[in-house]
Amino acid sequence: MKPKLTSEISCPVCGHKETETMPEDACQYYYECKKCRGLLKPKQGDCCVFCSYGDTPCPPVQLDQSCG
Ligand SMILES: [Zn+2]
Repeated sequence: MKPKLTSEISCPVCGHKETETMPEDACQYYYECKKCRGLLKPKQGDCCVFCSYGDTPCPPVQLDQSCG
């Protein structure tokens, strides 16, 4: 199974949505909102910003792998 590599990330500060491409085998911990320039970090218990704020979780999670 191939993971989906794009995720629409929603900024919790300003509500801006942006479709981003995710790295296939890594997690992105920080994300800067392109509109308000706010720096997003994962919520507690999530491994990356896509799992917290994206509409699609990161590829390792989709494949049921951990991504420490
Ligand atoms: Zn924002």
